[in-house]
Amino acid sequence: MDLGLENPDLLRQAAPVGGRWIDADSSGIAVTNPATGETLGYVPDLGTAETSEAIDAARVAQKAWAARTAKDRSNVLRRWFDLMMANQDDLGRILTAEQGKPLAEAKGEIAYGASFIEWFSEEARRAYGDITPGHAPDKRILSVRQPIGVVAAITPWNFPNAMIARKAAPAFAAGCAMVLKPSEMTPFSAIAMAVLAEEAGLPSGLFSVVTGDAATIGQVMTDSPIVRKLTFTGSTGVGAKLYAQCAPTIKKLGLELGGNAPFIVFDDADLDAAVEGTVIAKFRNNGQTCVCANRIYVQADVYDAFAAKLTDKVASLPTGNGFDEGIVFGPLINDAAVTKVASHIADATSQGASVALGGKAHSIGGTFFEPTILTDVTKDMAIATEETFGPVAPLFKFETEAEVVAAANDTEFGLASYFYSQDHARVWRVSEALDYGMVGVNTGLISTAEAPFGGVKASGLGREGSRHGLDDFLEIKYICMGGI
Ligand code: ADP
Repeated sequence: MDLGLENPDLLRQAAPVGGRWIDADSSGIAVTNPATGETLGYVPDLGTAETSEAIDAARVAQKAWAARTAKDRSNVLRRWFDLMMANQDDLGRILTAEQGKPLAEAKGEIAYGASFIEWFSEEARRAYGDITPGHAPDKRILSVRQPIGVVAAITPWNFPNAMIARKAAPAFAAGCAMVLKPSEMTPFSAIAMAVLAEEAGLPSGLFSVVTGDAATIGQVMTDSPIVRKLTFTGSTGVGAKLYAQCAPTIKKLGLELGGNAPFIVFDDADLDAAVEGTVIAKFRNNGQTCVCANRIYVQADVYDAFAAKLTDKVASLPTGNGFDEGIVFGPLINDAAVTKVASHIADATSQGASVALGGKAHSIGGTFFEPTILTDVTKDMAIATEETFGPVAPLFKFETEAEVVAAANDTEFGLASYFYSQDHARVWRVSEALDYGMVGVNTGLISTAEAPFGGVKASGLGREGSRHGLDDFLEIKYICMGGI
């Protein structure tokens, strides 16, 4: 398929490992376009030997990188950011081709991912230490912050660029090296980032992208005593498995796992704003984000009005190939995603939910699915407890604030939450009462490089973005100076 790239070299059928490029051959892994089923190309099927090679090279490269000045590292990252933005259109095209999201949304993701590189190019110079009044007259207490060392990263397919940028930028800013295993479904976006990182001047061996069997590569990464941190974004099941695999070598962990976000509309909300917020929080990326609203709670007095407004709005949004102009809903990533979405709808309707919009596979075929709104949804339905990861908005009815806060918190997950209210006292009360790492108040879009992204409970460990995102790649060293 001709993607019409200005710089065709960005779609490279090869992976950068330990400072060399390994070409894909006919035994490589095929990457397909979910909108058409077409094969886009191949990436090499790498395993134990190449992962070890990447880790060894990272160890060497990391020492030299950490020895450079923060300003020097900052300048390289800044060039990487500039190159990502200069190639935004091409990177967006590669992303749409392998992931399916509409081109405008894909280009938005490139800008969003690049913004983390820009932000951490700035934060690189702010890894301050402390001098603390000591415990003895002849002693001084210093703490400095140093890079953790070699970091392994494993990332998913829903944001093929941004999930990498959010990890790689703070890692390199801090002075770490990174060995990345991107999703097997979207490796070309990762490889294109590496091409530009090399052009920006990131030293050889500092950033490897290892494509191949996930479990094999993950095992080598987690077994290695050289790897001091694992940063993972994906499902809670795989995250928990990797957590256990990291135990013997006592690695630091950053885990961005599943969510089951509540989205609460109180009867004092601006309903039109709440509808706009729902469209963003629920339907962005076709419902395939870990911060997507999964349970929409609407207070009884405004339930019918909200359902009608939301249905009107969503019905007007077009579905199709992400390369076509004006498309809002692309395909789902694969057949398994379609099966899960359909099973949640079937389960809900069999227990009394009604379909206000959509409800079935789209007539376009393939993995396209109709954006769906369900009403009369209750807590016993699977959709109330499992992450749907698809374009289904289930509307639950509630009566009181206490009832809805308890319902919202009744989940093992704790990533994002949202609510709409114009009552300031309620805004404070509910923000404080929600057991989540993030709360969106009167907004459906919360993620930005300046803010700490992350969850509590089974949604993960650590924060990405903000100044805290840099901390996650630094160790504190205490230096006690005596004899003064
Ligand atoms: P999703 O449902 O978003 O695909 P996964 O947790 O299955 O979430 O996948 C996220 C990332 O984890 C992908 O890069 C995938 O290849 C990788 N992965 C899946 N299973 C394992 C495993 N056993 N070890 C290491 N990585 C894995």
